[in-house]
Amino acid sequence: MSVHRNARCRGPYGGEGDQAGGTGCDDPAVFEVARYRLPALRVCAVHLGPCLLLASGVLWPPEITLIGRP
Ligand SMILES: [Zn+2]
Repeated sequence: MSVHRNARCRGPYGGEGDQAGGTGCDDPAVFEVARYRLPALRVCAVHLGPCLLLASGVLWPPEITLIGRP
């Protein structure tokens, strides 16, 4: 898990490109959500639920990996 320890939350929208830094959440990422033809989205516990519905390319049913400590 140490590889991802410093990953930041990118939720709930999983912004790409120009929006990548504008997600407004600085919490450490706890979960990684797999997406179709996009990099996996790392999110904190609070944004896990919202990102499943709001981020683009999220698989359904969701494929979620725990990468950190809540
Ligand atoms: Zn977050």
